[in-house]
Amino acid sequence: MRKGIAVSPGVAVGTAYCIHEIFVNPDTKRLEDREITAELAQYEYARDKTTEDLRALQKKVEAQVGHEQAAIFAVHESILRDAPFTKKVRDWIVNERMTAQAALHQLMAEYTQLFSRTKDEYLRDRLNDIRDVVVRISAHLSDVLRPETHALPGPLIVVADELLPSHVVALGDADVHGIVTQAGSQTSHAAIIARSRGIPAVSGVAGILRQVKTGDTIIVDGREGHVIVNPDAEAKSAYHKLEREFFNLKDQLAENRDRPAVTADGVEIQLLANINGVADAHTAGRMGATGIGLFRTEYLYLTHSDVPDEEEQLEAYRKVIDAAPGREVVIRTLDIGGDKTMVYLGRNFREANPFMGWRSIRLSFEHPEFFNTQIRAVLRAASYAKRKGGKVKLLFPMITTLEELRRLRSIVRKACKQLADDGKPHVKPPVGMMLEVPAAAVTIRDMLGSCDFVSVGSNDLVQYLMAADRDNPKVSHLCQPLAPAVLRVLSDVIRACNEANRPITVCGEMAGQPRAFVLLLGMGLRNFSMSAAFIPTIKDLTGHISIAQAEALARRAMEFSTIVQVKRYVDEQLSRLAPNLTVLDTA
Ligand code: PEP
Ligand code: MG
Repeated sequence: MRKGIAVSPGVAVGTAYCIHEIFVNPDTKRLEDREITAELAQYEYARDKTTEDLRALQKKVEAQVGHEQAAIFAVHESILRDAPFTKKVRDWIVNERMTAQAALHQLMAEYTQLFSRTKDEYLRDRLNDIRDVVVRISAHLSDVLRPETHALPGPLIVVADELLPSHVVALGDADVHGIVTQAGSQTSHAAIIARSRGIPAVSGVAGILRQVKTGDTIIVDGREGHVIVNPDAEAKSAYHKLEREFFNLKDQLAENRDRPAVTADGVEIQLLANINGVADAHTAGRMGATGIGLFRTEYLYLTHSDVPDEEEQLEAYRKVIDAAPGREVVIRTLDIGGDKTMVYLGRNFREANPFMGWRSIRLSFEHPEFFNTQIRAVLRAASYAKRKGGKVKLLFPMITTLEELRRLRSIVRKACKQLADDGKPHVKPPVGMMLEVPAAAVTIRDMLGSCDFVSVGSNDLVQYLMAADRDNPKVSHLCQPLAPAVLRVLSDVIRACNEANRPITVCGEMAGQPRAFVLLLGMGLRNFSMSAAFIPTIKDLTGHISIAQAEALARRAMEFSTIVQVKRYVDEQLSRLAPNLTVLDTA
């Protein structure tokens, strides 16, 4: 049994499907004489495909983002054309009988060693470029070689170093019941994807890819953070039982899907879903979400083979709107930078503090054409939603100042005018700000005049308020949503919005955590947006507590001056109010 971090609740037993990145687990197979020609041909095929990709990318990024940003793909193509690069790979295939994947791995190892001796940042960045090219070739090779996932028996448990957006695309509709990753944290891609699909997941299981191979039986326990490879019959049957219980409980809770979330004293609460794409929007519907409170559009870009243009974005938004008929859909503009980067946007721009730097809305402002494309697509989607009886809202991430909000309003006005001139149906949607930066929390009363709604991105707000990186386990004891400082700020922001009659939602992970949920409810919050997996439990909890109880609980909790006291007190109260609650909870 291996122990990791429980990042998405539930238990699953299935067949392992290992995603081997060539950098993680090199292919050690040696080729037979008769296989060499075919291997060379496959390498050439992958290389040709990579050239095609790079040329298409260059053209599209040039048209949509800018000449300067597109130049990176010309650099990548020159790496691909570099004679020693290809000669080395071919020589290793022919003389050492390595597979093309193994030769690429060796090539990368050589370059890494060579470049590790340099202090020159420019050269170090070139190493990243070489890695990008190698990854592209490798992806095409695995297109040729990838075992068909549907040929494997039973539900799949995906095992990877980290689940990348490209993997999610590659897995398509495969029957994935669990996810295990070597890297990762509560807010990593894998965790977010698993929770939004309601799939049990465990992260941070170092070296698991060396212990498990595709086809092995594997158990994921997303409540305890355990992973068991090739369990004995007893363990397997015990976990099958737990898995059935988990399904039953999920079904039982999801039975309340069509009922509104109502407190014990009859106050209706909105439970919305955070999604990354259309598949999540369907899950959200099944789990009983009353709308989409946060559509993180960066996945649209991260999973696109090049850059999604206006029509492609519009299509993606329409699909989400169709998956949430008659509901509200909050579309957040691109939030890239920090931990999520794209090769054509700021990847080679070195920053000492990326999370405090050129990310999110700050980056969008500097690519006006590119940003405008997304806004136009959202405005057109808003018109589509209106025709279908739903509603789109436009949300801007990481707002720091009032000036930013005013500038955004003017950008939206201009986009409306442009669309009117182009004769394209559009609607000007309500414009909201994400409250993630302490400066915006302090000045929230000034900001409210320039926005129609507020959505609190507590994952970021907590990390900035506590000066503790949300993905760094060394400081996770500080990065806590139940810290007294966080609670006081949240309570003040909720009060400010309620007094000004501005709708406010919390859409960070804390919204779906029972302890934080009851406190936020007691502070006056009525809109919560969370990973779909948590909606049934939170709906159930809502029915066990009255507003008066939640208010008393929040008032008392805010008198404590340490995190430990807050947690202990809320735990006691929760176990009294809803004794069966922890079953689906990972927190
Ligand atoms: C947040 O910061 O809380 C949030 C919802 O946005 P993200 O997790 O995408 O940064
Ligand atoms: Mg955020």
